[in-house]
Amino acid sequence: MDLISLKNLIKSEIIKSGDFPLVGVGSRDRLKDAPPSANMDYCLTGAQSCIIWAHPNPIEGLENYFSKKERMSIKKHQQIGYAGSWRMAVEISRLIEEKSDYKAFPIIPNGKYRRREELPESVRGDYRFPDFSLRYGAVAAGLGHLGWSGNLVTKDFGASLYLGGVLTTAPLEPDPMLEKNYCNRCKICNKVCSTGYAYEDEEEIPVIIGGNKEIYAKRGTFSSCGIGCAGWYGLSEDNSWSTWTPGHVCLKKYPRENWQNKEFRTNLINQILNDETLPQNLKDFNLKIARSFANTGRTENVGLRPFSDTNPRCGNCNFICVADYDKRKELYELLISSGKIYIDENGKEFVNKTDNEGKEIVYYPPTQEEFFTEEEIKEMDAFKEI
Ligand code: SF4
Ligand code: SF4
Repeated sequence: MDLISLKNLIKSEIIKSGDFPLVGVGSRDRLKDAPPSANMDYCLTGAQSCIIWAHPNPIEGLENYFSKKERMSIKKHQQIGYAGSWRMAVEISRLIEEKSDYKAFPIIPNGKYRRREELPESVRGDYRFPDFSLRYGAVAAGLGHLGWSGNLVTKDFGASLYLGGVLTTAPLEPDPMLEKNYCNRCKICNKVCSTGYAYEDEEEIPVIIGGNKEIYAKRGTFSSCGIGCAGWYGLSEDNSWSTWTPGHVCLKKYPRENWQNKEFRTNLINQILNDETLPQNLKDFNLKIARSFANTGRTENVGLRPFSDTNPRCGNCNFICVADYDKRKELYELLISSGKIYIDENGKEFVNKTDNEGKEIVYYPPTQEEFFTEEEIKEMDAFKEI
């Protein structure tokens, strides 16, 4: 099959799935000045092209997520975004190798990092770099540009999406790069983060892709986001709202330099997992997250994660960044009046908030079993079966 037909076939298969409305092709050349995670050879020697696609979060699901009505819609789309992308990556790799003599490599959507022996021992493992950066690849493929949060910001879906992709030795014609960067520097991504992972006013060294400078916020160490994103801790600085966690600790309150200290990070994890003074239901909650994390750590591939282990509890910086700025502000308003998550003695999560008239409201958002049918749960788990 010639290269034009091959590219058309790949793109039409991805679009046809219905889950990935955005797809583009980037070239090795555009990534030549980018950091090591853009080096395609690390995954596939001689790779010439990256094919990158995106699955967006739906607006209604985001409204429910930020208002704490329910988080199951976003759970479903996260499963499609990760497990669905992994399946698509394997299928497209097979397709390329069946239809041509070129090689292909499915990119793990999240959970696999390079060892960085050159970093000081005190922070090694706490600055993580993927085997191949889907974000860099997506910029090279014309899907968008890096926003202030460091996430990929697209024209139609902002940054509220999940990326997947494939590398191939086929020298496919790259799609045009997006001219405009649709990040408007609103910095709502900073406001919705309870950990302070990304700085509000300092930049990282720019990343060069296709000759353009991609500028984004300086970041802290992996643990600060990791603890918040996993859902162990997540509380606003003013103590008025939480993420989807009963761990009511605001990590923004710790001085930034603490995160460089291994002892500080170890003590924090010990506090989370071994604090004897915690009530049993919170201990169980924290251990459940640790087990779920360990499962993904073992496979080093979030695309193989069972549906029950897919549990969005933060992700705020990327979820909130929808393309429409007014909607982004609305989602922010929903978050700051959404109250806090608690868990009862049986481990079931509930919301406690105060309405406009100062009245206390308590309710239980739906669990996985209450929100989905058995068939739907099976379908979500089938995404990882290849
Ligand atoms: S939330 Fe605002 S500042 Fe942050 S990445 Fe999105 S558009 Fe940029
Ligand atoms: S995922 Fe949550 S904790 Fe991590 S940087 Fe984003 S907002 Fe902060």
